[in-house]
Amino acid sequence: TKSAGGRDVRFFEQNMQAQLEARRAIQAELRGALERRELELYYQPIFSLSDRSIVGFEALLRWHHPERGMVSPVDFIPVAEETGLIIEIGDWVIQQACADAARWPSGVRVAVNLSVLQFEKANLLQVVRDALHSSGLPARRLELEITESVLLKEDEATIQTLHQLKALGLRIALDDFGTGYASLSYLRSFPFDQIKIDRSFVQDLGVRADGALIVNAVAELAQKLGMETTAEGVETSEQLRLLQEAGCTQAQGFNFGRPNPASQVMRYFADAMQR
Ligand code: C2E
Ligand code: CA
Ligand code: CA
Ligand code: CA
Repeated sequence: TKSAGGRDVRFFEQNMQAQLEARRAIQAELRGALERRELELYYQPIFSLSDRSIVGFEALLRWHHPERGMVSPVDFIPVAEETGLIIEIGDWVIQQACADAARWPSGVRVAVNLSVLQFEKANLLQVVRDALHSSGLPARRLELEITESVLLKEDEATIQTLHQLKALGLRIALDDFGTGYASLSYLRSFPFDQIKIDRSFVQDLGVRADGALIVNAVAELAQKLGMETTAEGVETSEQLRLLQEAGCTQAQGFNFGRPNPASQVMRYFADAMQR
C-alpha cells in the first residue's frame, strides 16, 4: 500500500542519513589520525613458488581507532580519497614502508599500494625519490602497486609519471588483475614487472571445473610478456599446487602468512632459517 511505501522511503532516508553521519565522523577522525599515530603499516609476506623463499612483503594500512578498534582500509581508504587526505596518508605510507624495508635482509622487496589520486598531484615522483634517498632503500627493492583505475584515466601525464618512476629502477605491479573492465588491453599500455591475480580467481581453483582456466591463461600470457605473476589470497595447499602447475611465479595469502606489524617481519626470516 501507499503508506507502507512511504514508510519504506522514510526508513531508507533515515538509513542514508545514518550512513552519511557515520561517514562524516570517520572523515573528521581520520583527519588527525596521522598526527595521533593511529595509522600503522602491517606487512604480509610474498613467497616465490619455485623455492618457497620470501621475495617481499606487501604494506597494508591499518587504523587503530581509539573507540572503534581496528578500522579496515576498505572502510577508510574511500573516505581518505573523497577528502583528499589520501595524499598526505599515501606520502606517509611510502616513507614508512621504505624506512621499514631498509632494515630487512638485502633483496627482500616491499610492495606499496598507490591510490589513483596520488597520480593527480605532480610531486609523486619527488615523494618516492625522497623516500628512497632518506631510507637508503635501493630502488629495485620497492614495488608500487597500481590498479586499472590509474590507467583508465588514459592521460599522458599519468603514463609519463609511471615511466619516470620505473626509470628510478623500481618495479610497477598491476594489482587486482581481472576485476576491471578491459584488463588485457592495459597489459600493452605499460611494461609492468608484475601482475597480481585477484583473489576471486584463486578462490575458483579446485572448486569449479573450469577454475584453473583463467589463472593458467594469465600466467602464460604474463610469462610471454616477460612479467611475473603473484596470486593473491592463497588459502589452501590445493590452490597452491594448482598455482604452481599454472606457472605462477609468486603467491601471497593466509596459507603463507597474514599481515602483521613491522616488528613481526623478522620472525619470518628466523623461521625460514630453522626450516
Ligand atoms: P589489496 O591491495 O588487494 O590487498 C590485499 C587484501 O587481501 C588485504 O586486505 C589482505 O589482508 C587481504 N588478504 C591477503 N591474503 C588473504 C587471504 O588469504 N584471504 C583473504 N580473504 N584475504 C586476504 P586489507 O589489508 O584489508 O586491504 C584491503 C585493501 O585496502 C587493499 O586491497 C588495498 O586496495 C587497500 N589498501 C590497503 N593499504 C593501502 C594503502 O596503504 N594505500 C592504498 N591506497 N590502499 C591500501
Ligand atoms: Ca595490493
Ligand atoms: Ca590486490
Ligand atoms: Ca583488492
